[in-house]
Amino acid sequence: MEKAMKTASQHAMKVHQKLLEVYGEPRWRNPLPPVDELVSTILSQNTNDTNRDRAFDALKARYPSWEAVRDAPAEQVVETIRVAGLANQKGPRIQQVLQAITAERGSLDLSFLSDLPLEEARAWLKKFKGVGPKTAAIVLCFSLNRPAFPVDTHIYRVSGRIGLRPDKMTVEQAHPYLESLMPPETYYAAHLNLIRLGRETCVARKPHCPDCPVRKLCAYEPKTPSA
Ligand code: SF4
Repeated sequence: MEKAMKTASQHAMKVHQKLLEVYGEPRWRNPLPPVDELVSTILSQNTNDTNRDRAFDALKARYPSWEAVRDAPAEQVVETIRVAGLANQKGPRIQQVLQAITAERGSLDLSFLSDLPLEEARAWLKKFKGVGPKTAAIVLCFSLNRPAFPVDTHIYRVSGRIGLRPDKMTVEQAHPYLESLMPPETYYAAHLNLIRLGRETCVARKPHCPDCPVRKLCAYEPKTPSA
């Protein structure tokens, strides 16, 4: 078992190194404060980055603070984030999370999560409805600089095809598994580069295997043939 994990870990590091070689060190936007990142991630569910950002900017433009979003009439928040899609779900979800955080902490300050042991911080975030392992990991990794590896739909698909994780593993299980394969200092770059691979090359419907930088490291069969 230990040997299998070592081999899997070496494989993951080869993929990571290859992507670094081809894509370079990725840089996402400047970190958002944790509550901003939490809201942005809830808005991102089932939509693209542009519409997520439009909805997020609309919230920031309409309301002076997250407290104001929390206390606003529900239908007004839904209306404000309409562009993100699923607004009838996302609006109440955002308000409920903001209310629940306030009820528990007395404010919307999440900076205390920096001082909690990682798994406690993760569990604290995940207990709120609508906050799954991916959202919790995004807040921890990108806002709080904690070693968490978010597994989104692209990373889940790509990691399955390449053979970085067992085929049948759920997305929930993939979070701790993929984290165990790579050292924490690689999470940020590995996450962003695997997403880029999934968006540009290893796309959902028909992956562009002939153009793929990790083709030689990938277990997926049958790969799409060369043109
Ligand atoms: S070789 Fe094909 S299946 Fe494998 S990662 Fe690349 S694009 Fe995806």
